[in-house]
Amino acid sequence: MAITREAILDVLGNIIDPVSNKDIVTAGLVRALTLNGDAVRFVLEIDPARSKMMEAVQAQAKADLEALDGTGEISIVMTAHSAAPAPPDLGGGKKSEPAGPQKIPGIDRIIAVASGKGGVGKSTVSANLAAALAAEGRKVGLLDADVYGPSQPRMLGISGRPSSPDGTTILPLRNHGVTLMSIGLMTREDEAVVWRGPMLMGALQQMMTQVQWGALDVLIVDLPPGTGDVQMTLAQKAEVTGALIVSTPQDVALIDARKALDMFDKLGTPILGMIENMSTHICSQCGHEEHVFGHGGVATEAKKLNTPLLGEIPLHIDIRLASDGGAPIVVSKPNSSQAKAFRTIARKMIDDGHA
Ligand code: ADP
Repeated sequence: MAITREAILDVLGNIIDPVSNKDIVTAGLVRALTLNGDAVRFVLEIDPARSKMMEAVQAQAKADLEALDGTGEISIVMTAHSAAPAPPDLGGGKKSEPAGPQKIPGIDRIIAVASGKGGVGKSTVSANLAAALAAEGRKVGLLDADVYGPSQPRMLGISGRPSSPDGTTILPLRNHGVTLMSIGLMTREDEAVVWRGPMLMGALQQMMTQVQWGALDVLIVDLPPGTGDVQMTLAQKAEVTGALIVSTPQDVALIDARKALDMFDKLGTPILGMIENMSTHICSQCGHEEHVFGHGGVATEAKKLNTPLLGEIPLHIDIRLASDGGAPIVVSKPNSSQAKAFRTIARKMIDDGHA
């Protein structure tokens, strides 16, 4: 039997919120419920101070829904509601009803940079596009939401901690014309961060709403690889203009990229296009061209999926050296062919009105 929204709400309506003693539906904790085939997703809005207590509620909701006939994958994301410092006016109106994606004041566009798997160059692409857009005169912010491996501070040559003079708002740092906030700036570089679900959501929300981004033409969000809670929270909390998917030409990376595309589709985030990274390798010694990971795989895939291929970035040691040195190649060698590959994509984003 096909599962219905009503049946799900019935089940959730029997779970009591220990804070208000009402059921979690009446208490307004269930948000953004979506039913996709038999897959159930929703957000559980919680008071961050009670996240531990609410984990039991989350577990019960999951177990009860799994026991319901006809349900498939159950995905419940816990997010902190804005009991803490209210974010800057999120569009005015009913402040007590924080639901659905919000526009972040002062930020004209949000572009998510995603990949199906790690190590394909998503952060490299994010850093270079941000710096290239800044060089074109755009006001650019970069939010490093890759909570599992934040690398933007290193790639953009930024260290030190962001300050918070009033204990509420966070002042971001800036280099190469890019305003940066990264979870990596809140932790020590050698410190492994284990983020539990609610913490992760809280951190993302905080970075979006409490950081003083100033007026931005575009905020680029460097997402963690894969399809997880961060992607979902971002799409449900903020109005995302669109997503760029980075992949290498190999089959295995492409299969994962397809999953990422599918996820954005389900979340209702427009896919702006795909970028092939580590496309062609040109030997820095002899100029010989070879295709280490194959070539053109992303172009074929993009065509199949009816998504534009925005560009192909070569595999070149200078790209890595530049990132490791804290000045992306579009800044350190702006006239190189590698830098031009990034700049062409940035230019296209501007021409298409996406930056
Ligand atoms: P991801 O964010 O997808 O995990 P990174 O951007 O951190 O990937 O890239 C992984 C490693 O590969 C880094 O050391 C980076 O400098 C290097 N790299 C990425 N793209 C290129 C490229 N086109 N040419 C050379 N090295 C690259």
